[in-house]
Amino acid sequence: MSTPRRIAVLTERAPGETRVSATPETVKKLTALGAQLAVESGAGVSASISDEDYASAGASVADVAQTVAGADIVLGVQAPDPALLAGVNSGAWIVAGLDPFGKRERIDAYASAGLEALAMEFMPRITRAQSMDILSSQSNLAGYKAVLAAADTYGRAFPMMMTAAGTISATKAFVMGVGVAGLQAIATARRLGAQVSATDVRSATKEQILSLGAKPIFVESVAGIEGEGSGGYATEMGEEYQKAQAELVSSHIAKQDIVITTALIPGRPAPRLVTDAQIATMKAGSVIFDLAAPQGGNVEGTVADQVVERHGVKIIGYSNTPAHLPADASALFARNLFNFLSAFWDKEAGGPVLDEEIGDAIRLTKGGKIVNARLLD
Ligand code: NAD
Repeated sequence: MSTPRRIAVLTERAPGETRVSATPETVKKLTALGAQLAVESGAGVSASISDEDYASAGASVADVAQTVAGADIVLGVQAPDPALLAGVNSGAWIVAGLDPFGKRERIDAYASAGLEALAMEFMPRITRAQSMDILSSQSNLAGYKAVLAAADTYGRAFPMMMTAAGTISATKAFVMGVGVAGLQAIATARRLGAQVSATDVRSATKEQILSLGAKPIFVESVAGIEGEGSGGYATEMGEEYQKAQAELVSSHIAKQDIVITTALIPGRPAPRLVTDAQIATMKAGSVIFDLAAPQGGNVEGTVADQVVERHGVKIIGYSNTPAHLPADASALFARNLFNFLSAFWDKEAGGPVLDEEIGDAIRLTKGGKIVNARLLD
């Protein structure tokens, strides 16, 4: 590919997407590396960033065709529509959260167009890539927002309050899945004054739960996943474990007021953790927030972006939780992309040059073909 120095930032077009893949801060920093930034007019509006903000940071602001014309790198939060990319340079990079399993036809279209698509959610979980990890930065905010949304829907207060009119007891919150989102959900629920318990299949999370002042609730009769799990990720559990987990959840969930579920398995539908029968044992007025809603949900009956009431329990889940905090979510997402590009920026080449470890992990297409092992399997 020619020297990649012209970087385009598009307005996100997916319904409900409010984020933007570059901010005035990252525009300035990328310009300082030697890149020319072109931003589509209106790209930042839903994240409270105006065209003028981008222009004063050094970007040219124009319509979509002018923005992509001659681009060597196109940045996005989600996968841009291949039809918008006709004017980019040959072999241009598409750097975004590409949802490779969910949006396969877009990936195939990037391949046919000879583009090099880089899926930022495939970033390996290694120390040097932590600052480039969009899953972590967005999950952290999602975990926070899930608790706020649940608290807002709940008809009671979280903290114990002793008032002249009597005492209000503390809310009991249960967090299922203690990855990045779950840890932030625990911390947020604690800050609001709830009594918090949490569960996971990875044994390493027990200590993390305790360190946040919450109570670990774990299957003890069947072995879970030792330590962190592979690359910090869980795998699908065996039948025996699932049965023991269902029994454990049944005995615990009936006493909970708020349940936040966050359990995910990469490349697979979200595991079903809460059944309708279990919901029926909960107190009326309880609230469940299902952060796995976009991946099919951990909770039976979840409908993304709707409040569903079952047995007096409200079930909520957004199809895109980080999009409910557009300014901070964009700021962190944009920094992830900047950290990625700058870590590989080669002064002589005038643009980023990837190494094998990260390049091979995130590269989906090159030279007209799908090249990623996870998509070829
Ligand atoms: P995730 O979003 O893939 O899953 C969320 C949580 O659900 C995980 O903790 C997982 O173990 C849990 N889970 C899966 N199936 C479950 C089930 N059936 N029942 C209960 N829980 C279940 O995970 P994540 O938030 O992306 O992070 C997982 C780990 O990876 C964390 O420990 C995190 O610290 C680590 N991590 C490391 C890096 C890095 O080193 N660069 C970056 C990000 C995350």
